[in-house]
Amino acid sequence: MRILVVEDEKKVASFIKKGLEEQSYAVDAVYDGIEGEKYATLNEYDLIILDVLLPRQDGIVTCQKIRLKKVETPVLMLTALGETEDKVRGLDSGADDYLTKPFQFEELLARVRALLRRKSQDKSTVLQVGGLALDPVTRTVEREGKPIRLTNKEFALLEYFLRNKGQLLSRVNLAQHVWNVSFDMESNVIDVYVKLLRRKIDKGFDKPLLHTVVGAGYVLRDEDSND
Ligand code: CA
Repeated sequence: MRILVVEDEKKVASFIKKGLEEQSYAVDAVYDGIEGEKYATLNEYDLIILDVLLPRQDGIVTCQKIRLKKVETPVLMLTALGETEDKVRGLDSGADDYLTKPFQFEELLARVRALLRRKSQDKSTVLQVGGLALDPVTRTVEREGKPIRLTNKEFALLEYFLRNKGQLLSRVNLAQHVWNVSFDMESNVIDVYVKLLRRKIDKGFDKPLLHTVVGAGYVLRDEDSND
């Protein structure tokens, strides 16, 4: 999952970025509203964390502008302590949730998970397909009750597949959302990781879930249930 952080206090921005990266999110950080608007409209994010008080263009205006440009990405707004008016204005401008500064990182993480869950329109915590289940909170994976151990990157890849199950995901899309890099034609890192992941989730089971679409990318799908 790819997240944009718009926060002018560099210490706070880097604290959020580092913390999220430790949870295997791909994170970009920018430091003013104009840059935030630019990044939010040019790139495809799964979530935007947007501070209200920003140089050049505040978070409220930034949020209004990206909504006008039809960017539907969930926005978590960071507001100053006690500024009720900011919260109302934030939500009115198109933000989905807000968090009051100062905050505990755990609380930020909980809001991030909740918004990402809402985005994938799956209200239950556990993501599932064809007997394979991933719990983003406990960070565990199992298939037909058998625990599967994944590395952080494999976990992030599988989570992204599950949140977009049934959808064809290109290498470019996976590179951007799971690795936060633009696709390099020379690199086969994505294929390598998909192969590793497939070995862990499909090997030893009757039906494969992770399918290759030749020349196009990959899709995670239970072909028997139209999932
Ligand atoms: Ca600020």
